Amino acid sequence: MAQKRVRTRFAPSPTGQLHIGGVRTTLYAEMLAKQSGGDFLLRIEDTDQSRFVPGATESLCRTLKRLGIEPNEGVWIDDNDQIIQKGDSGPYIQSQRKEKHQAYAKQLIDMDKAYYCFCTEERLTQMRQQQELTHQPTGYDGLCRKLDPAEAKRRVEAGEPHVIRLKLPKEGNVTVDDAIRGKVTFDWKLIDDQVIIKHDGMATYHLASMADDHDMQITHVTRAEEWLPSTPKHIFIYQAFGWELPVFAHLPQLVNADRSKLSKRQGDVSAESYLDKGYLPEALINFLALLGWNPKADQEIYTHDELIKLFDLSKINKSGAFFNQEKLDWFNNHYLRQKPADEYFTLVQPYLPSDEKDLDFKRRIALLFWERLNLPSEITGLSSFMFQASLDYSNVPLTWKDHPKEEAVERLKAAKSWIEQLDDSKLADVKNFEEQIKESIKNKGWGNGDTLWPLRVALSAQDKSPSPFELIVAYGKERSIKRIDEALAYLLK
Ligand code: GLU
Repeated sequence: MAQKRVRTRFAPSPTGQLHIGGVRTTLYAEMLAKQSGGDFLLRIEDTDQSRFVPGATESLCRTLKRLGIEPNEGVWIDDNDQIIQKGDSGPYIQSQRKEKHQAYAKQLIDMDKAYYCFCTEERLTQMRQQQELTHQPTGYDGLCRKLDPAEAKRRVEAGEPHVIRLKLPKEGNVTVDDAIRGKVTFDWKLIDDQVIIKHDGMATYHLASMADDHDMQITHVTRAEEWLPSTPKHIFIYQAFGWELPVFAHLPQLVNADRSKLSKRQGDVSAESYLDKGYLPEALINFLALLGWNPKADQEIYTHDELIKLFDLSKINKSGAFFNQEKLDWFNNHYLRQKPADEYFTLVQPYLPSDEKDLDFKRRIALLFWERLNLPSEITGLSSFMFQASLDYSNVPLTWKDHPKEEAVERLKAAKSWIEQLDDSKLADVKNFEEQIKESIKNKGWGNGDTLWPLRVALSAQDKSPSPFELIVAYGKERSIKRIDEALAYLLK
C-alpha cells in the first residue's frame, strides 16, 4: 500500500507572541512533514475570542519568517505584511470554520455522543463549591445528560441559552498510543463531559481542533504535553465519527535547570525577543531542534536541512528538555564565527559608536572581538575603551608586579619606537608583528611580562583585554602611539 502523505500542523492561538518553546513545537512538525516531502500547515486557533490579541497572528508569522520556518499550506504573511491563506483545505483561521464545527456538534448529538446543557454559570459555580466543600472531585455532575433529547431540542429552539457537551463514557479505560510516550491509560470516570460548543456558538479547542485536523487530513498531531490528558476526549470524537486516528505525539516541555517550566517569569521568553537580542536563526534552530533529541552522540552542529533529513519523532526524550542558555550562547558564537566577514560586520556595526566615522577602524575592532562574541551587542562593552578619547589609568597599574615605574617608562618608550619603525603593511599580520616585537624584547634582554604588561595596559587600561599585538593591529599605528604617549604622560606626571 502506498505510504500516506504526511501532513502536520502548527496550530497556535493568537494570544500573544510566539513562545520560544512554540518554535520547537513548530520545528518538529515542520521537520516531520518536510523530510518525506509532505505538507506542513499553519492554522490559527482563534475560537476563544476572549483571549484574542489583535496583531498576534501577524507577529507570529513574522517571527516564523525571520526564523526561516515556512508552512507550505495555511496562514502566512506576504511581502506586504498582509495575512494570506494558501492551500485547498481552508479556511485556516479557525473562527471562519464555525459553521462546520456546529454541524459536527449536531451530528454528535444525533449520534447520542453529545448533549445540550442548559446549566447556568451560577449553578455550575454552586456545584463546584459544594464539591470542594465535601472533598469530591470537581466536575460537571451530568444533570443535563439525563434530559430527554426531544425536550432539550424544544428548549434550544425556544432560544434558551445552552452549550453542547460530549457524552463521554463513565466507566472503563481508554488508552492513548503516543509516539513519544508509548501507551498511556486513562480512567473515563475521571474525565469530565467536555464543553465542545460554548454559549457564543463557537467550538472549544477539543472539537474545533479535531474537526479541523480531520478535515485538513492531518496525519500527525504534534503538540505540547499539556494536551495529553485531553487526548481521550479527542479519540472519542474521532471514533464517534469513525475517522482514522492521527499519530499523536506530545512534546515534553522546556524546563530550567531546576526543572521548573520556562515561563514569562524568567524574563522575556518570546522567540522574537531572542531574535531581537541577536540570536541567529540558524543558532536557534540548531539549538531548539536538539532539545530533547539528537540524531548522533558526537555531533552538535546541523543545518536546518540536515535536521530535516535526520529527524525521528520516536527518538524524542520523554522527560522535560533543559533549556540551557549557555549552550544557546555557544551555538550563537559558532554561527557568528561562520558568517562571511561583511555579514558579521553588518550585524555588529549597530553596536559600535555611531559618532566614530572611521569605518576601517570599526571594522578592525569588529574583527578583533569576533571569536569572543556570543551576541553582536556584546561588542559594545568589550570594545568601548578603544573608542574613548583618552583612558583612565588609575584603576590598573601600568607597572609589572612590583617593578619600578622607571622600568615601565623605559619599556613603553622602546615599544613606541618599535611601532614607529613598522610599516603599516606589517601591522596587518598579527603573527608576524608579534614575532618581531618579541625578537626586539629578547635582543634587549628584557622579559615578556615586564614589557608586554605595561604595553597592554597602556593600550587598554583594562585588567583583561586582547593581547597588545592584537590591540595595536586594531588601533593602527597612530592611535597606538597616542595611547602610549598618554600612558607615559600619566607615569611621568
Ligand atoms: N491552539 C492550541 C494551543 O495554542 C494548539 C494545540 C495543538 O497544537 O493542538 O495550545
